[in-house]
Amino acid sequence: MSEDINEGPQVTDGTVKTETEEDKINGLPGVGAATAEKLMVTGFDNLMSISVASPGQLVDVAGVTEATARKIIYAARDKLDMGFESGEDLLKKREQIVKLTTGCKAFDEMLAGGFESGSISECFGEFGSSKSQIAHVLAVRVQLSKDQGGADGSVIFLDGESTFRPERIIQIANGLGLNHEEVLKNIKVARAFNSDHQMLLAEKSEDIIKEGINGLPVKLLVMDSLTSHFRADFSGRGELAVRQQKLNRHMHVLMKLANQYNLCVYVTNQVMAKPDMFFGDPTAAIGGNIVGHNSQTRIYLRKGKKGTRVGKLIDSPYLADTEAIFKITENGMEDV
Ligand code: ADP
Ligand code: MG
Repeated sequence: MSEDINEGPQVTDGTVKTETEEDKINGLPGVGAATAEKLMVTGFDNLMSISVASPGQLVDVAGVTEATARKIIYAARDKLDMGFESGEDLLKKREQIVKLTTGCKAFDEMLAGGFESGSISECFGEFGSSKSQIAHVLAVRVQLSKDQGGADGSVIFLDGESTFRPERIIQIANGLGLNHEEVLKNIKVARAFNSDHQMLLAEKSEDIIKEGINGLPVKLLVMDSLTSHFRADFSGRGELAVRQQKLNRHMHVLMKLANQYNLCVYVTNQVMAKPDMFFGDPTAAIGGNIVGHNSQTRIYLRKGKKGTRVGKLIDSPYLADTEAIFKITENGMEDV
């Protein structure tokens, strides 16, 4: 059993109950049950979002007076643990990061080693650009040892578009000389039927992550696709704000899992053909800056010449915006 399992908060006694965000909001002065409910459903469901709200926003959504709104905001700020970490702690965290290789040298080099644990990586691109193929490749390769470019890890695969194919896992596993039955056992798949279900699945994933799968720590969580259900469920013009709020909350759950359990979260996203919000940019990803700001690594995928695919790193905080050409083969991802 790997020591990586349960690196999150330890609960030694079943009776220990930690204060939930809901409890914390209920405990704020001036917040009764009805006000708490109104705050929760409008996305002010944690101390952070309340701390950074304007009094006017809380007046609007909760129907409290401006004076009360101020009191609530100040109390939330007081209660909030801002989570400052020393540079040294952050360096230690950086040192624990695992990089999942793809099997394509050019692609790994573009990512300075591979897809990182501890954060969200997003691939966005048109249909057929190989977003789901990369998800399958990672789901197998994360099971390789660290020396082989994996993380000795298991996988949670949240499938929003019914694209998970065990047959494809078998092909890629065989190409690497792995026992494909074992590889399949170490991948837990759940189909998301709508955006609420998807959000719930992400939250419930934590239970599996705490336990591990077959004694292996979960080192990869796939969300393929991150945005399609949200896009379908909130398609009306007036629904954009709610959609973005929910998507933001969803991504915060994913980010927390990535951060807390040092796992790689890989999400896929589509592009808008003719975005009305981003004139002049035909490659704008769905979800706008909510998704963009929450993904530490963003890769734009497109089809290249002769059946190749091209990945381009976008807005990386510390890597150059470079491109990598690759092809999808029976074995997975390969250099051209
Ligand atoms: P997206 O998720 O971006 O819509 P996919 O990842 O599903 O795209 O598909 C990318 C490409 O991978 C497809 O064009 C398909 O032809 C190719 N592909 C799928 N399986 C194989 C395979 N076994 N061998 C070679 N290419 C494959
Ligand atoms: Mg796909």
